[in-house]
Amino acid sequence: MKCFRCKGEMRPGVTTFVTDKDDCCIVIRRVPCLQCDACGEVAFNGEVAENLERLVKAARQTLTEVAVLKYPEAVA
Ligand SMILES: [Zn+2]
Repeated sequence: MKCFRCKGEMRPGVTTFVTDKDDCCIVIRRVPCLQCDACGEVAFNGEVAENLERLVKAARQTLTEVAVLKYPEAVA
């Protein structure tokens, strides 16, 4: 897979996903991703993107201001 920003090579890795809106900051660590060698751009596959959306929704419902999850445990 090629990076859509710089056409560099995307390689499998892990990243930390952060979303911060409406006074609620959600951090999801160790998320599998593809990362560009050259510019650092990160892409998620469809399954991971769906899981992230689900985890973010669930975390927001707990009404904590800051939630930190580990992806491998959260989706298990
Ligand atoms: Zn790139």
